[in-house]
Amino acid sequence: MQKQTKFLLSENDIPRYYYNIMADSPVPATPVLNPMTKEPVTPDFLSALFPMNLIEQEISMDRYIEIPDEVREIYKLWRPTPLIRAHRLEKALDTPAHIYFKYEGVSPSGSHKSNTAVAQAYYNKIAGTKALTTETGAGQWGSALSMACKFFDLDLEVYMVRVSYEQKPYRRYLMETYGAQVYPSPSTRTQAGKAILAQDADSPGSLGIAISEAVEAAAISNGLKKYGLGSVLNHVLLHQSVIGEEAIKQMDMADEYPDVVIGCVGGGSNFAGIAFPFLREKLLNDRDTRFIAVEPTASPTLTRGKYAFDYGDTAQMAPIVKMHTLGHDFIPAKIHAGGLRYHGMAPQMSMMVDAGLVNAVAISQMDVFEAASLFATTEGILPAPESAHAIRGAINEAMDAKALGEKRVILFNLSGHGHFDLTSYQAYNEGKLEHYDYPEEAIASIDERLPNVSLGVTN
Ligand SMILES: *Cc1c(COP(=O)(O)O)cnc(C)c1O
Repeated sequence: MQKQTKFLLSENDIPRYYYNIMADSPVPATPVLNPMTKEPVTPDFLSALFPMNLIEQEISMDRYIEIPDEVREIYKLWRPTPLIRAHRLEKALDTPAHIYFKYEGVSPSGSHKSNTAVAQAYYNKIAGTKALTTETGAGQWGSALSMACKFFDLDLEVYMVRVSYEQKPYRRYLMETYGAQVYPSPSTRTQAGKAILAQDADSPGSLGIAISEAVEAAAISNGLKKYGLGSVLNHVLLHQSVIGEEAIKQMDMADEYPDVVIGCVGGGSNFAGIAFPFLREKLLNDRDTRFIAVEPTASPTLTRGKYAFDYGDTAQMAPIVKMHTLGHDFIPAKIHAGGLRYHGMAPQMSMMVDAGLVNAVAISQMDVFEAASLFATTEGILPAPESAHAIRGAINEAMDAKALGEKRVILFNLSGHGHFDLTSYQAYNEGKLEHYDYPEEAIASIDERLPNVSLGVTN
């Protein structure tokens, strides 16, 4: 019998609607608070940072939101992305499980982040925005937004976490090639950056600090610049739903349905992207699927963090949201999955984990790179270290199925390729990677470091 490996859709199958989980969520949305007043935010506060059309998406309860033709036209550059059956990995594991992955690394910038970058640039453009500010860790989000801003003729200012800016400059060159201005964060361009540098002139930076700088740069621009975030927010998760909508059709082509859906989590967007459409099928149509979010042991937001109201950034300028958090002052260890080192989590993801609809596991970077190598040597694709967390999760499921002697259908999202992460692979190949657990003292002190919110809902 012929084994089919790739399940491909045509351009006509690019989804026409984004799916909004809030329409079907069994738990209500939690409030978003102004970081100064700690009262629920007004559209006014948000409109300093985002255009009104994205604010509407942020609070929308509509199940489906139409994808503009201009956005679908650009999606055609890489969408629909392939669904691939990992026959060779299955064979190497000698497992009865069927392993499928959705491959988002085929986008021009190399990850799923282009899905929301193009949408955000489009909605800003039609709202009259002239320039955007943003932050980036390892540079995946920065490069996706740089490309999207160029397509829509918007200027872009990127605050890049200093340690990445210095040690992993290649994505910076990519952003600059797309026409963005890139600054190492903390920088002297903002009050937030200067305050950090005054305490520690050699600060390696963090995503939380870079967010503060990008938010400040937009907030003080008198409406000239808006801010774009690559994960966490509801409208970002919404845009990523194209991944899962396509995957549903492709699993159907394969004549199978996933018993388990797996993704890595930094802020939660690629996981939500693949999982929420399948979660809709579970909630509305009784499909029986488990959901597993995989995070690093070094940044264990969902598995060890506290579900509480916290600031989205270090300098306490971004809104306060209810999420799993390690504390907004979290400075991550220098692990190699730069995109998974955020202190918080998308509120929608946290809600689903808290409601027991999504399970979370934490995996050490040694185990992650072992999985990444096995994947590269069987399937040929060199995964992003972030995405390799999902691969490890899928391998663990496949081995469990083998131990139980059961056929299990596993679907995971391969959020990006690792062609810019070769120094990480070099470190692994040379035996220089270390296991890192986030320290217990830092977990124990999260409570003390949370903001005091005086709503009926308290921390
Ligand atoms: C940014 C990034 C992630 C983590 O972000 P999420 O919002 O959790 O998806 C994962 N994989 C890749 C390749 C990334 O670039």
